[in-house]
Amino acid sequence: MASDGNRPVASHGRDVEAIVVGGGPAGSAIAAALAEAGHQVLLLDKAGFPRHKACSEYINPAGARLLDDMGMTGDVMAAGAHRMEAMMVHAPGGNHFVANYAKAEPGRAALGLSRYRLDQLLIDRARSVGVDVIERGHVRSVVQEEGRVVGVEATIGGTRETIRASLVIGADGHNSVVSRELGLDTKPRWPYKTGLVAHYRGVTDLERFGEMHVGQHAYAGLAPLEDGLTNVAVVADVRAVEGRSGSIEEFFTASLMALPGVARKLAGAVRVGGIRGVGSMARRARRTTGDGFLLVGDAASFLDPFTGEGIYEALRGASLAGPVASAALRAGDVSDAALRPYRTARRRAFTAKRDVCWIVQGIVNTPPLMDYVTDRLARREDVGLTLSGVLGNFRPATQALSPLFLARLLRP
Ligand SMILES: Cc1cc2nc3c(=O)[nH]c(=O)nc-3n(C[C@H](O)[C@H](O)[C@H](O)COP(=O)(O)OP(=O)(O)OC[C@H]3O[C@@H](n4cnc5c(N)ncnc54)[C@H](O)[C@@H]3O)c2cc1C
Repeated sequence: MASDGNRPVASHGRDVEAIVVGGGPAGSAIAAALAEAGHQVLLLDKAGFPRHKACSEYINPAGARLLDDMGMTGDVMAAGAHRMEAMMVHAPGGNHFVANYAKAEPGRAALGLSRYRLDQLLIDRARSVGVDVIERGHVRSVVQEEGRVVGVEATIGGTRETIRASLVIGADGHNSVVSRELGLDTKPRWPYKTGLVAHYRGVTDLERFGEMHVGQHAYAGLAPLEDGLTNVAVVADVRAVEGRSGSIEEFFTASLMALPGVARKLAGAVRVGGIRGVGSMARRARRTTGDGFLLVGDAASFLDPFTGEGIYEALRGASLAGPVASAALRAGDVSDAALRPYRTARRRAFTAKRDVCWIVQGIVNTPPLMDYVTDRLARREDVGLTLSGVLGNFRPATQALSPLFLARLLRP
């Protein structure tokens, strides 16, 4: 890509300093950060809000702290967020381990809040600090000139428009059009998983904890939300879902009933609304910056929901990108070189945790190993608390990668 980031972008019509594509947690957070820094920001989302999003709706402890830093705790709690001091993880053979955040660090807790409510709060906040939000604004393609991104083409109110900007931020999630158009999509061959999610009412025995139940062929998550709702999720191999004999509904129910601990808790519960799903989940963009653009949130990368850091990474990524993007806009240089500090900051912030996530994937996908590790975690409190802090993103992930930690975890 040519490094000609100093040339100004011609301005006309709706043209702005920054376009943010997508109003999920990543997009709303970075749009607000740039508007607060005095920039003119247009956010386009193809959806109308509030909208549902296929997600287990668990905000990890560090994600909850970021929401607090954004001044959102009052709104989030008023929306009915459910505090979870711990996550109970059940292994296929019956062992369980409590990832106890509050014990690992007093005051730490995860939150359960539907994306229907959370994302509305975040986009309202962006609007309130001056972001121009266009709902049902569907970005169809990225406009490039001489190797640099100079805007987007979007359908707004049934009309196709070209909107130019000095910087385009792809915060458009898992099926990012920005990443795809720029040829940056990569899909790891493994894990090849998909997620199915629904809300239930009347799930019993879930007060202070969320739960993960790992089976032989799938895992399920239970997260208490607002208004007595519980998020129930199944994550399974894409091939198993595509090759099923019955409906998605039958597959979903059968997967849940195959996990005795889940079946017990759902015995008197009723499903509220439909089952939401996604395709294959793992993705990564080859790079997260270039001349005139950057990627944040799932558009940049996502692995698997088991370790529960997607919302956190979306918010943290936005907080890393905001100052770099603002400085680049102010300097009139939005070249890849000017945006590179964001890439470096992402590497520092996310690489070690991503390595932990790969190790966790290997364990979760090998039932005898999952049984073994869960048993050791339950019996070795200090090891369990370190891992709780790492999984909750409030202890450095490098702690769980040290040979000493791994030896203490894995010794018989
Ligand atoms: C099954 C499942 C369960 C999960 N569970 C959890 C969990 O419990 N906890 C957790 O932290 N993370 C979880 N995640 C991950 C989490 O959902 C994501 O990491 C998070 O939503 C990323 O936020 P984002 O803002 O990057 O993208 P998104 O939240 O996906 O937002 C992207 C936005 O972009 C919009 N958009 C997309 N394309 C366009 C376009 N062309 N034009 C305009 N707008 C567009 C969409 O409408 C959407 O509003 C889960 C993911 C899955 C699939």
